[in-house]
Amino acid sequence: MESEYENVLRFESQGRYIEALEIISEAERCGNHSERLNILQAEIFMSLAEESENLYKKLVFLMAAVEAYSRNDACECVYPLFEISELLGSASFYRRVLKTAELFLKRIATALRSQEPDVAKDGVYAHLLKERKKVRSLVNVVNARIANHVPLADFKPEAIEMKKENGAMVERLRPHWESSSENTKREFMKVSTQELRRFVLNKFEKEGKYALEKVLGHVKKNARWIFWLCRSCSQKFSTSEECTSHLEQVHAAEFAPSSMNDLVEKEVWSDKTAVGVWKDAIDLVCSSVESFCCQGLTGVKEKINFDSDMAYVLLDKRLLQGNVDERVDEGGKISFSDAKLHCTRVHAGGGDDFMSWLALSEDWKFKFPRPIREFNLDMWIASLRSYQLVCRTLQTHKVIHLDAEILLIDKSRVKLLKHLTGMCLFDFRCYLNSPLKEYIIDCLRRRFT
Ligand SMILES: [Zn+2]
Repeated sequence: MESEYENVLRFESQGRYIEALEIISEAERCGNHSERLNILQAEIFMSLAEESENLYKKLVFLMAAVEAYSRNDACECVYPLFEISELLGSASFYRRVLKTAELFLKRIATALRSQEPDVAKDGVYAHLLKERKKVRSLVNVVNARIANHVPLADFKPEAIEMKKENGAMVERLRPHWESSSENTKREFMKVSTQELRRFVLNKFEKEGKYALEKVLGHVKKNARWIFWLCRSCSQKFSTSEECTSHLEQVHAAEFAPSSMNDLVEKEVWSDKTAVGVWKDAIDLVCSSVESFCCQGLTGVKEKINFDSDMAYVLLDKRLLQGNVDERVDEGGKISFSDAKLHCTRVHAGGGDDFMSWLALSEDWKFKFPRPIREFNLDMWIASLRSYQLVCRTLQTHKVIHLDAEILLIDKSRVKLLKHLTGMCLFDFRCYLNSPLKEYIIDCLRRRFT
């Protein structure tokens, strides 16, 4: 256990947050709900929030920090709460910060009374004094904000910019492509699996080859590109419904409030204002998580098929016709057909879609051959923690009140659960697209230049 904690500490100090979060998540999976790990996790979320330029992302990380601190009933949750208030400019949220700060100051006072005054700069006494100063100055800031009637911030989603790293090369190739014969264009609609294997092995070495085989093995067995993977315990599901019920039953309320905290939790989370506050802070989290699950993994429009022996990857003929529509291929089903006949009758009218498809780099989605579980793991854990925070608020509040606001929050909770399920969706095409495009561009370059 000691080494676990120290490993996390080391990764955290090096800014390797994904690795640190992975260890914590693995420890939790094995039933180790250590208080020290919770605090470290909260600190990691605080750092991630600070580094995030995307406001929505920042907000989810801050919510996750609140949840991680709350698991220990730690009043340090006042800091992420304050950051959230600053982002939202919400007066009711500032009042929540004041309430938590008040409780924090009370606890510090109690702790100070039980300590011998100590002159050591790094002693417990000095630490408590420092913390008191910090909380008091925070209270002053919050009081000033409330007095000045800070308006609610205008919170708009920020699009995640896709990198177009292949763009320059594709633009150089475009005139050659445009003046090519229809037959030449058709040739590029099928890619030899063997050649692709060789290319991947050259470029990404053994690890890449292994990843590619895994993808090919999956599609051969399932005839489908998509599946759902629980990012917390790596369980796989073939439908979104199975995944949703797993998240709800296994992970929704996996926090275990200790007995002594029950009362305090009621005090901190369950009054009317708390519910009002979370009703506002939850909708935004929903939108945030939604923006990530939509822009992340579910956006594939082009079909990718194979021939019956899987000797060829067959690209979507609409890329050649220039009529790929905006609809996402949600089913992700794979058909196996004759490679010789593929595209023979297709009129290569507008090849622009093919070149645009090549130009769009998918690197931001998957770093081939990184383990898929790692993809967006920070965001996943943060979203799950935010969800758990909502469950916690509902659970403690229900003890005292049952009203329309609870039902509203519960509605949001269900929506958030749907988005979380969306984040579990994996489309192996995202994996394959990056090396596949690189390979095709390489072939075009060798042919035309
Ligand atoms: Zn799971």
